[in-house]
Amino acid sequence: MSEIKLHDTMAREKRVFEPADPARVTLYVCGPTVYDRAHIGNARPAVVFDVLARLLRHRYGEDSLVYARNVTDVDDKIIEAARRENVDPGEVTRRYERLYLDDMGALGVRPPDLAPKATDHIGEMIAMIARLLEAGHAYEADGHVLFHVPSDPDYGALGRRDREAMVAGARVEVASYKKDPADFVLWKPSPPEVIGWDSPWGRGRPGWHIECSAMIEAHLGETIDIHGGGLDLIFPHHENEIAQSRCAHHGAPLARYWVHNGFLAMAGIDKMSKSLGNVVTVGELLEQGQKGEVLRLALLSAHYRQPLDWSEGLIAQSRATLDRLYRVGGDAAPGSPDPSVVEAIADDLNTPLALARLTALSDPATLRASAALLGLLGASAVEWFQGAGDARIEALIDERAAAKQRRDFAEADRIRATLAAEGILLEDTPSGTSWRRA
Ligand code: AMP
Ligand code: ZN
Repeated sequence: MSEIKLHDTMAREKRVFEPADPARVTLYVCGPTVYDRAHIGNARPAVVFDVLARLLRHRYGEDSLVYARNVTDVDDKIIEAARRENVDPGEVTRRYERLYLDDMGALGVRPPDLAPKATDHIGEMIAMIARLLEAGHAYEADGHVLFHVPSDPDYGALGRRDREAMVAGARVEVASYKKDPADFVLWKPSPPEVIGWDSPWGRGRPGWHIECSAMIEAHLGETIDIHGGGLDLIFPHHENEIAQSRCAHHGAPLARYWVHNGFLAMAGIDKMSKSLGNVVTVGELLEQGQKGEVLRLALLSAHYRQPLDWSEGLIAQSRATLDRLYRVGGDAAPGSPDPSVVEAIADDLNTPLALARLTALSDPATLRASAALLGLLGASAVEWFQGAGDARIEALIDERAAAKQRRDFAEADRIRATLAAEGILLEDTPSGTSWRRA
């Protein structure tokens, strides 16, 4: 197949992708902080990097890719959410990690090979922080351990911002104990009522950035092939990951290619944000009856580096495109993908071009195999045109069970009513909930 090219944020240009070891290609993507439902913007990196993972498996072989996406399960927002609910942080993170996997599963995102959790890697983080201290790249102050940015002359290479912009743009916390305003936290103290772990610097918890550096080292090695995430992560998160890892590894670079997706916005609104009240969650869209594949195609309709305007029109258009593709693809068994579709995806994941080429295919078997590379046409045509898929009903029943378990009976009743309005009746039995059409 044609060579793979990726836009590398570090090089600021499209480069031919050559893995260090084609038998073990390594990909790491910064995953969710699990304290609430994923919004449709959060789904964009999950879907984009799922397409990249499919492409890499197609090119190098199913078992040649190790794809890791972490779960941030210790964080101030999690601690705050747990405090509000008066439950253990673990209860919050377990609930939202499961919902995240359900939501992404509905969008056809295959689970990554590894999903390491921050709380399972505190020892590795402490060891890396100790090495940074020893090498003079970090210092202790006021119960904290901080990374000293001026100790790394290469700091800032990824975003290439000047120092003033980095300090101002990051809303870097100004604290009296910092030697330099750009220094960032590796470890911070936890008061007795807050989750914490014993460390050489007292009971505390890690800063956010160190978890990715420590988990990449533990699972993938010192230098990985591709590191991905949304472009909001370039600074400070990825810049800090790079500095920590390089300084802990005698100068070895953290990643050979850096890939960042652009932002999704609601039409006319700059940024989805909870405080602005303009968030649409994946769960809401699915409950409205949107099919996961329709949402997936909508997310792939723009090139991943471009901004994507989310709108009702986009959803309707994507549904129409999929209806057409299912009519052509019918119930054919997949053949081999069309080289022109593979070539488009291999060219820096040009999904709009790949979709245009997909709609021009007339052989059902080729169409199905080509669509599979994008994670599309996963159902049979019969299932597709039957209306509400059984999988969605099952997912809603699971969500209702979860709502009941956390004693959110209003939500449970709402889900029952949503389904009833579609003629789907639920029956609760001691062994679980079954459903039938009225
Ligand atoms: P978070 O859980 O906030 O750390 O975000 C998880 C991932 O979603 C990160 O890779 C973010 O860059 C990405 N992300 C958040 N909001 C958007 C958005 N509106 N559009 C695209 N990606 C986003
Ligand atoms: Zn990260």
